[in-house]
Amino acid sequence: MEYHELTVESAQKLLCEHKVSSVELTTALLDRIEKYDEKIGSFITVDKKRALEQAKKADQDIADNNIFSLTGIPIALKDLLCTKGIKTTCGSKILDNFIPEYDATIVKKLKDNGAVIIGKTNLDEFAMGSSTENSAYKITANPWNQEYVPGGSSGGSAAAVAARFCCAALGTDTGGSIRQPASHCGVVGLKPTYGRVSRYGLVSYASSLDQIGPITKNVKDAAILLNVISGNDKNDSTSSRVDVPDFNLAIDLFEKKSLKGMTAGIPKEYLSVDGIDPDVKKVFHDAGKILEDLGVEIKEISLPHTEYVVAAYYIIAPSEASSNLARFDGVKYGFREKRADDLIDMYKQTKSKGFGMEVKRRIMIGTYALSAGYYDAYYGRASKVRTLIMEDFSKAFGACDFILSPVAPAPAFKIGENIDDPLTMYLTDIFTLSANMAGIPGISVPAGYSSKGLPIGIQMMGKKFDEMSLLRAGHGFEKTIQLDKRFPKI
Ligand code: GLN
Repeated sequence: MEYHELTVESAQKLLCEHKVSSVELTTALLDRIEKYDEKIGSFITVDKKRALEQAKKADQDIADNNIFSLTGIPIALKDLLCTKGIKTTCGSKILDNFIPEYDATIVKKLKDNGAVIIGKTNLDEFAMGSSTENSAYKITANPWNQEYVPGGSSGGSAAAVAARFCCAALGTDTGGSIRQPASHCGVVGLKPTYGRVSRYGLVSYASSLDQIGPITKNVKDAAILLNVISGNDKNDSTSSRVDVPDFNLAIDLFEKKSLKGMTAGIPKEYLSVDGIDPDVKKVFHDAGKILEDLGVEIKEISLPHTEYVVAAYYIIAPSEASSNLARFDGVKYGFREKRADDLIDMYKQTKSKGFGMEVKRRIMIGTYALSAGYYDAYYGRASKVRTLIMEDFSKAFGACDFILSPVAPAPAFKIGENIDDPLTMYLTDIFTLSANMAGIPGISVPAGYSSKGLPIGIQMMGKKFDEMSLLRAGHGFEKTIQLDKRFPKI
C-alpha cells in the first residue's frame, strides 16, 4: 500500500483498523515532501517535529479508542490561517517573522478532531492572485507540468493535495482561490456559503467575501472536512447560526436516489464569454451530458449582470483589502524597517519593503475607490452592482437546484505568462467571483484534461447553505466520470 495515495476516508479506515499508524503515515508524507517539494514548492513551512508529536498523540488516542473524524490524518493549511506557535506568513515579507499567539477557530477544530497539521502552504501574498506567483517566498509549480502555474491563490494547498503530500488541505476563497487552483491541479475544492465557516484567525483579505474551505482528493473527503470546520463561532460575528447538517448524507443521498429530480441551470451569459478555451468548452459540454444521464434536468438560465462582475469585484475586494491591510504598519506585527528617520518614515519604509507589487496595487486601487471624492463613483456603484448580482442568483435559483459552469476560461497557463498583465489575470476569475459576491457555495470537481494533459474542472454553485446538493451532485459526477489519470507523476 502506498501511504500517499490515501484519502481522508481511506486513511480513517486503516487507522481505526490498526493497519496503519499515524506516525507511519505522517512520516511517509514528510519524506515525500522532503524528496519532491523542492520541485513543486507547495509548502512555506513544514514543522516535522510538531507533526510527529501530533501523530504520536493520535496513535495513543486510537489505542485508547478515543477517535474523532480526523484522528491521525495529515492535513496542510494555507499559510493565511493562524497557527499557534507556527509561523504564519500570508506569503508576505511583512509577516516574515510572525508567530501567532492563537489558533484560528478552524485550526482548533481540526486539532480537536485529531488532525495532524503537516505544514503551511504557499499562496499569493495575502491571497491576492490567481497563480501563486505573487508569494514573497516561492512560485509553486503545477504538479501535472511544472512549467505551469497551479492556479491561485491557494495554489500551495491544491498542489500539495495533487502531489499527494497530505491527505487533504484547507484553502481560502475570496474570488475563486479554492475552486480555481483545485480545477488546475485536478483535485476537489469547495467554497462554503459565506458564514458557514468561522473566519476567526483567517488573516482577512476582503472580509465580506473570504471563506475557508477544503481542498481534497475526492468529494467525500470534502464532506468529511466540511463537517469538521462548519458552524457558528462567537469569535466571528459573521459566522452563521444556520444548522449544520451531516454532509456525509449527501453521499448516501446519491447512492439511494442518484441525481434524479435535480435541475441544473446553465447561464446563457457564461457561454458567450470571450475566449473560452476549446478544451474547457468540450469538458463542460461532456459534463452536462454526464449529469443528464444521472437524471439531472438541464435548463438555460440567465445571470444578466455577468459582464459587470469582474469590474465590481476588483473595486470591492481591493477596497476592503486597503482597509484590512492598514494594520501592517511595522508596529503591531511582523517586519519593521529600523533605518527610518521618524515614525511616518518607518511606516512608509516598512510598507514599501514589506509588501509586494500586487498587494501595493490593490491597496492603491482600494484607497482611491474609498476616498471621499470617489467613493460614490466606485465603491458605492460596485456595491449596487453586487446587490444586482445577488438578485440574479436569487432569481436563477427559483428555476434550478444548482448552476453548472466552467471554473476558469482556460486550463492552467505557463509560469510568467500573465504576471505582467494584471488585467488578463483578473479576467480569468470571471466564473468564480460571483459566488463570493453573492455569498453562495461553489464546488470544483475534476472533469477532464486539456490537449496538453492539464486538468480541467467543472463548477457547481448552489443556494445559500445548500452545500448538500453540491456534494451530492459532485459525488455522483465524480463517481460516474471515473477519470483515468487521477494524479500526476512527480
Ligand atoms: N484572484 C482573485 C483575486 O486576486 C481571487 C483571490 C482569492 O480568492 N483569494 O482577488
